[in-house]
Amino acid sequence: MPDQVLTQSTPLSLLREVFGFEDFRPAQAAVIDDLLDERNVFVLMPTGGGKSLCYQIPAMLRSGVGIVVSPLIALMKDQVDALRANGVAAAAFNSALDPDEARERLAQLHNGELDLLYVSPEKLIGSGFLDRLDDIPISLFAIDEAHCVSQWGHDFRPEYAALGQLRGRFPGVPLVALTATADKQTRSDILRVLQIEQAAIHVSGFDRPNIRYTVLEKHKPAEQLLRFLDGRRDQSGIVYALSRKRVEEIAGRLTAEGVSAAAYHAGLSAETRRRVQEDFLRDDVKIVVATVAFGMGIDKPNVRFVVHYDLPKHIEGYYQETGRAGRDGLPSDALLLFGAQDTVTARRLIENSGNPEQQRIESHKLNAMVALAESVTCRRRVLLNYFGERLEKDCGNCDVCEDPPERFDATVDAQKALSCVYRVGQRFGIKHVIEVLRGADTERIRLFKHHTLSTYGIGSDKSEPEWQSIVRQLIHRGYLEQDIASYSALRLTDDARPLLRGEQQLELARPRLKGKTKKKRAAVELSSAADEALFQHLRQLRKNLADTAGVPPYVVFGDATLIQMAREKPMDEHELLAINGVGQHKLEKYGTDFLDAITEHCVANNDSALTLDPAQREILHAAQQGLDLETISRQTGRTLSDISEQLIALIESGETVEPERLIAPKKYGMIEAVLNRLQGNDEQKIDVVRLRDELPPLVADHEIRLVCAAR
Ligand code: ADP
Ligand code: ZN
Repeated sequence: MPDQVLTQSTPLSLLREVFGFEDFRPAQAAVIDDLLDERNVFVLMPTGGGKSLCYQIPAMLRSGVGIVVSPLIALMKDQVDALRANGVAAAAFNSALDPDEARERLAQLHNGELDLLYVSPEKLIGSGFLDRLDDIPISLFAIDEAHCVSQWGHDFRPEYAALGQLRGRFPGVPLVALTATADKQTRSDILRVLQIEQAAIHVSGFDRPNIRYTVLEKHKPAEQLLRFLDGRRDQSGIVYALSRKRVEEIAGRLTAEGVSAAAYHAGLSAETRRRVQEDFLRDDVKIVVATVAFGMGIDKPNVRFVVHYDLPKHIEGYYQETGRAGRDGLPSDALLLFGAQDTVTARRLIENSGNPEQQRIESHKLNAMVALAESVTCRRRVLLNYFGERLEKDCGNCDVCEDPPERFDATVDAQKALSCVYRVGQRFGIKHVIEVLRGADTERIRLFKHHTLSTYGIGSDKSEPEWQSIVRQLIHRGYLEQDIASYSALRLTDDARPLLRGEQQLELARPRLKGKTKKKRAAVELSSAADEALFQHLRQLRKNLADTAGVPPYVVFGDATLIQMAREKPMDEHELLAINGVGQHKLEKYGTDFLDAITEHCVANNDSALTLDPAQREILHAAQQGLDLETISRQTGRTLSDISEQLIALIESGETVEPERLIAPKKYGMIEAVLNRLQGNDEQKIDVVRLRDELPPLVADHEIRLVCAAR
């Protein structure tokens, strides 16, 4: 976009015209102002928080090109595609370009044709690139994924360290560092390495309220996963597993069950990985089963769920990976399958790696992760607490909040289990110990004469899964340990003694085995089947347009935008522009297609959108959403009685409106009571005047008329 066009522009006008969004999120506006004031800025904002606009908009407003350093080529491509779809002059410069393309980009750069150039750190620092920049006006530097500069972070990249020279070399150019994850240590490290100690610091909350966190005790994980996917099959999701082998297994199983899934891990060819990623972005594959390698380069906004099949190594990773769900702000799920064995495996991996100092850090981080998974208090509270954020009250949107685990006095059960472990000689695994407890008749029990033990059958009052849960909790809490060297045999720890001697009480959580992944929430909450059908129709249209243009569907429009279209059914360009996510450029490009589709749908369904004027539709829409008269009045700037009159006309033309939601319950109750009494009296004609006489003045005429009309 040529700079002169923008001289009249403000951040807000760009946001609205180019990106099609109504308002900035609070942190965005503050960061943009700081950058326009040429300050250096540090931005800590959760995934999906809207970091990109923080530098894109000032880069467009200031003269010169904005240089964005981003570690991942795939991510660059997405960002550039998305920007171009909005008509922004953006390009990427990285090792994926062939020599001709590279030359062309450099020419664009030198000719001042670009607002934004995305560069990999290697390219930026390598062979003479910085020298080029000496001769070119630069609007700002943005360092994305800035935690990569720090060794304290979980994703250190040596090539990022060289970015420290930017500050000294281009002192007049504001620099912004952005990341979604950084503890205190990492944070100060970023400022130090990039030499922006005086930077303005913007930290937004880490909370991702639209993500629901659920932890399920791992027990037949493949089936748990399938159960979770029931009803989610047409949604996009990522399943993370620890090893390549497991990734292949799960992907195979899902495919065999008819789920659209693909595997992704470092053992696959670059070509295969690229294709899987592409298919996922384009909604051609619904679920990617992957090692943690997947997702770094994924900006897909409509990932509806992230499942961790195995335990992540630290909360940073868990947070970042789950954060890939729901970037578009719509309800999404994060499911963790948590098994005792995972903890053991993770500990072993740590013990076999790195130097003692590193092991100490990693082991500390793992403990925090385990504590989160085992938590019997609100998960979000635990998660945010880890990042130093306090939650006012429990979140109400995690498994613990929705269904707090019952605690029970497990002292006796624990004693039974521990003594059984002791009696079988601390040489057997969980399965066998439980069989002895429950008095099973197996060959091994007979072989070792374990049916003669005093603990044989003392646990027959509990099911196998219940014992599994108890034994696992005993492991998590350090009363039992598993000896990896000898087939995961259970052994007592020193802590077990006081429990066994009856000197200590123990409370455990009741197991949660019945797959409480709960009702599937529709990510898309549309009030009618017809609206839902329209949404699906628009999705298909989006897919076709995206395929033709060779971009992922969300580059055309996000899910939230389509949902709003299906709900509000814009009838002309003006109304379409009012939809979040529709900017001028996309209006010109796709407006007609979408308007046609919506009109067609309305004709086929005889939808009121066709006959009502926009004002009526706005009121009807608000009323059907359950807003009350006062709110609608505030939103539309019309008087209360005007709105009532409009609604009465709508009711008379056959629309459904529920007055009990529009009027204060107390007043509604009064009107109803009088109406019922008069009808009970068999009065012939109940008119508004009659009612008026019976009701106190605080009930307004228009309210009475509205209730009568809806009878
Ligand atoms: P991040 O880089 O912080 O993970 P993005 O910049 O990718 O986040 O933005 C996440 C999503 O939020 C995108 O789909 C983007 O279009 C949307 N978004 C960002 N800012 C706004 C805004 N002010 N209003 C509405 N949507 C926004
Ligand atoms: Zn909660």
